[in-house]
Amino acid sequence: MTRVAVIGAGPSGISVLHAFKSAQNKGAGIPEIVCFEKQNTWGGLWNFTWRTGLDEYGEPVHSSMYRHLWSNGPKECLEFADYSFEEHFGKPISSYPPREVLADYIYGRAEKSGIRNWIHFRHAARWIEYHQEKKVFSVIVHDLVNDCQKRELFDFIIVATGHFSTPNVPEFKGIETFPGRVLHAHDFRDAREFTDQAVLIIGSSYSAEDIGSQCLKFGAKSITASYRTQPMSFHWPFNWENKPQLNKVEDKTVHFCDGSKKAIDAIILCTGYLHHFPFMRDDIRLVATNRLWTPGLYQGIALENNPRVMYLGMQDQFHLYSV
Ligand SMILES: Cc1cc2nc3c(=O)[nH]c(=O)nc-3n(C[C@H](O)[C@H](O)[C@H](O)COP(=O)(O)OP(=O)(O)OC[C@H]3O[C@@H](n4cnc5c(N)ncnc54)[C@H](O)[C@@H]3O)c2cc1C
Repeated sequence: MTRVAVIGAGPSGISVLHAFKSAQNKGAGIPEIVCFEKQNTWGGLWNFTWRTGLDEYGEPVHSSMYRHLWSNGPKECLEFADYSFEEHFGKPISSYPPREVLADYIYGRAEKSGIRNWIHFRHAARWIEYHQEKKVFSVIVHDLVNDCQKRELFDFIIVATGHFSTPNVPEFKGIETFPGRVLHAHDFRDAREFTDQAVLIIGSSYSAEDIGSQCLKFGAKSITASYRTQPMSFHWPFNWENKPQLNKVEDKTVHFCDGSKKAIDAIILCTGYLHHFPFMRDDIRLVATNRLWTPGLYQGIALENNPRVMYLGMQDQFHLYSV
C-alpha cells in the first residue's frame, strides 16, 4: 500500500489529514497516512507554552506565541468551510478572537475530523532521504518519550513543520555589552516583563507592531522602533518613536544610522524567521528566504526535482483541504 508521511500536526498538517479523512469518508481509496508531531498535542504554534529555548526533551521550543496575543486577521478569513466558528462555540463570536479562542477552534475541528489515530505525538523527524533506485523515502524519527529512533519507508512526504519558529537573529555592533534584556520575538511571552521600561524594537513588520503595542498597553515607558527600509506608518501614541537602522550599542545607549541616540532598557528583535528544514537531505530540502508564496494558489509547493515531496506553508492552514 502507498504510504504518505506528514511531518507536523500544526494547522497545515491537520488540514491535510482532514482532507484525506474526508476523501475516505466519501468512499475514496486513500493511502496509509502516518503523521509525526514532535509536540505532545496538535495545533502547532497555537500551543502556547511558558518555555523558551529547549523543551523538556531538549528539543527547540516550537511556539512563538505570547500570552496576550489576539488574532491579527478577522476570523471570517480564517474559517474552515466545513466547520464554522458558530458551530464550534454554539454562538456568534467577535471578529478578532484571542489566541485561546482560535486554538480551541483549531483543536475542535481536528477532533471532529477523527484523525488522531494517524498522529504519532512526541515523534520528531530527524532525517529524510530519497532512494532513487527504489523510489522510496527513508524517514528516521526520534520517539522522544522512549528515547529511541526508528526508520520507516514512505512513498510521499508532506512537510508541514511551519516557518515561524527558527528565529532570524542579526548581529549588531556592541550588542554583547548591553546590560539589559535582549531577546528575539520567538522568546517573547509576556509584555508585563517590560512595564516601566524603554524598549527598543528592531523590525517593522507584524511582530514589531504587535509586540511594541502590547508592551505599551502593559505599561512600557516608551517604544523606539528601528526600521531597515520603511517605518510602520500608523498613528502611534506619543511614546512611540520610529528610528532608522540601529548602528551600534554602547552600554545602555543605542545609536541609529541618522546620528541620533537614545538610552533604553530592553531590546526585542522582531527580525523574522528562517525556513529551517534540518531533517531533509540537501537534494529534497526547500531553500527559501522568505515565506512560501504561491500567488492565487493554496496548494503548497511540490519540489521541482522531486514532486513526491510537498512543503506546506501558512496559507495552507485554513484554505487548502478545508472540505
Ligand atoms: C506570533 C505569531 C502570531 C500569529 N498570529 C496569527 C494570526 O493571528 N492568524 C493567523 O492566521 N496566523 C497567525 N500566525 C501564523 C501561524 O504560523 C499560522 O497560524 C499557523 O500556525 C501555521 O500552521 P503550520 O501548520 O503551517 O505551522 P505550525 O503552526 O508552526 O506547526 C508546525 C508543526 O510542526 C511540528 N514540527 C516542527 N518540526 C518538527 C519535526 N522535526 N518533527 C515533527 N514535528 C515537527 C511542530 O511541533 C508544529 O506542531 C502567527 C504566527 C506567529 C509566530
